[in-house]
Amino acid sequence: MMDTMAAVVYTAPEEMTYVPEYRSTQQDRDDDVLLRIESVGICGSDMHAYHGKDPRRKPGLILGHEFCGEIVEGSRQGQLVTGNPLITCGKCDFCLQGRDNLCTDRDMIGMTRLGAFAQFMAIPERCLIDAPNDMNPNHIALTEPAATVIHAVDLAINGLNQPINECRVMVIGAGAIGLLTALLLKSYGVKMQVLETNLSRHLCVKEHVGIDPTNPLTESINDNSFDVVIDCVGSKKTSSLSFKTIKAGGVIVNVGLQNWTSEIDIRKLTLQEIKLIGCYTYTMKDFKSALKAIEEGRFGNLSWISELPLSDANLAFKKLHNGTMASAKVILKPHK
Ligand SMILES: [Zn+2]
Ligand SMILES: [Zn+2]
Repeated sequence: MMDTMAAVVYTAPEEMTYVPEYRSTQQDRDDDVLLRIESVGICGSDMHAYHGKDPRRKPGLILGHEFCGEIVEGSRQGQLVTGNPLITCGKCDFCLQGRDNLCTDRDMIGMTRLGAFAQFMAIPERCLIDAPNDMNPNHIALTEPAATVIHAVDLAINGLNQPINECRVMVIGAGAIGLLTALLLKSYGVKMQVLETNLSRHLCVKEHVGIDPTNPLTESINDNSFDVVIDCVGSKKTSSLSFKTIKAGGVIVNVGLQNWTSEIDIRKLTLQEIKLIGCYTYTMKDFKSALKAIEEGRFGNLSWISELPLSDANLAFKKLHNGTMASAKVILKPHK
């Protein structure tokens, strides 16, 4: 690790502190590679930590796990990369089955290890994926949320008895995950409805997905009308809405986790053979597919991303917290 670097430390609930000369005490692993962070996204889970609601992410930590960096040492110096923040063991049954997101012995960048809200970050080489050196670092940093979306949509596809482009799909939430889900579904030619209560996000969905989002607080949604529901919010309200609006034989994929308990309509689930599928992060395979899909423009031109210097992190978190940030993804730049 560098002697000192600029970094943003989560110091207390609702407090992100910019430290111009941060000194890391983290023990490097033998397989660590040092990256110069070019771009790093603020994730919903970082927000969760910021609110003091994630017992796994404690004050004193550098958050951030959606990054693009450049290798700064060794034979691959200068290579632009992104990386899987889940550092899995590679040996357990889940890892051997290719379900490495369920690894029983894993570390995570921005949780059990220092994250990417910093000028430099160390990560094991095997977590890295090379990106084309001429690709926009902000787009590369979107690989992690895009991988979550690829994983979620694949879970839906695998649970269906008909092709997804013949289905009516509802996406709940138009934050980064919901928006990326809608964009990916659009590339499959899927007919969908997007629900979003924050009206400042409606314009972006209209412009980039090409459909008018629905505000579930003021507009009604028909019961039993969707073959697939992808819940990118995961609140008690959205879970019950998912069960109301899903058709018999339909598939609900739960991605968001705003509330840790919800009521499940076990009667409808049973009598109408609803599939309720939990979705957690991504496998290494999803991660690679996500970068390729971004490169191929499957998620559109991504012009809705907004960018701020790392030193403005506290402001960015505040704006996200009080709902005055219209952009679905804020990328921080540690060297600007
Ligand atoms: Zn994330
Ligand atoms: Zn494992």
